[in-house]
Amino acid sequence: MSNRTFTMIKPDAVRNGHSGAILDMIIKAGFKIKALKMLKLSAEKAGEFYAVHAARPFYGELVEFMSSGPIYAAILEKDNAVADFRKLIGATDPAKADEGTIRKLYAASVGENAVHGSDSDENAAIEGSFMFSVLEQF
Ligand code: UDP
Ligand code: MG
Repeated sequence: MSNRTFTMIKPDAVRNGHSGAILDMIIKAGFKIKALKMLKLSAEKAGEFYAVHAARPFYGELVEFMSSGPIYAAILEKDNAVADFRKLIGATDPAKADEGTIRKLYAASVGENAVHGSDSDENAAIEGSFMFSVLEQF
């Protein structure tokens, strides 16, 4: 079990002014920020990040959405980080997300769902190093 996960506050949440509230929820839930930056993904970079979904019908829309505006990317630390963070963000489809989760509070649809959270320790490490150099991770 690793103690780190990777997250993005997606373009919808940034556009709608929810970044501060979401970061506050993350910190209050006990996660320590180990890397953080605001950036805008190119379509090429978004496509590379989500390459595992390349064959899915929503891939084109996902790439377009994720490159549509600035995001915040972060590496977070906490015991049981991956599973606890998935619990904090809620189900992929906000209509199915539990009350009080970030997606229930701030997401509009299954596509534009406010936040990303890694699904395994292995992917957390891959995604963190996709977005941050070693000099940017603490
Ligand atoms: N997505 C979508 N339509 C779907 C499923 C997923 O647009 O039917 C998007 C959504 O933004 C989601 C991302 O693709 O967050 C990655 O999908 P995944 O199944 O990995 O969901 P997550 O791990 O983000 O909950
Ligand atoms: Mg996923």
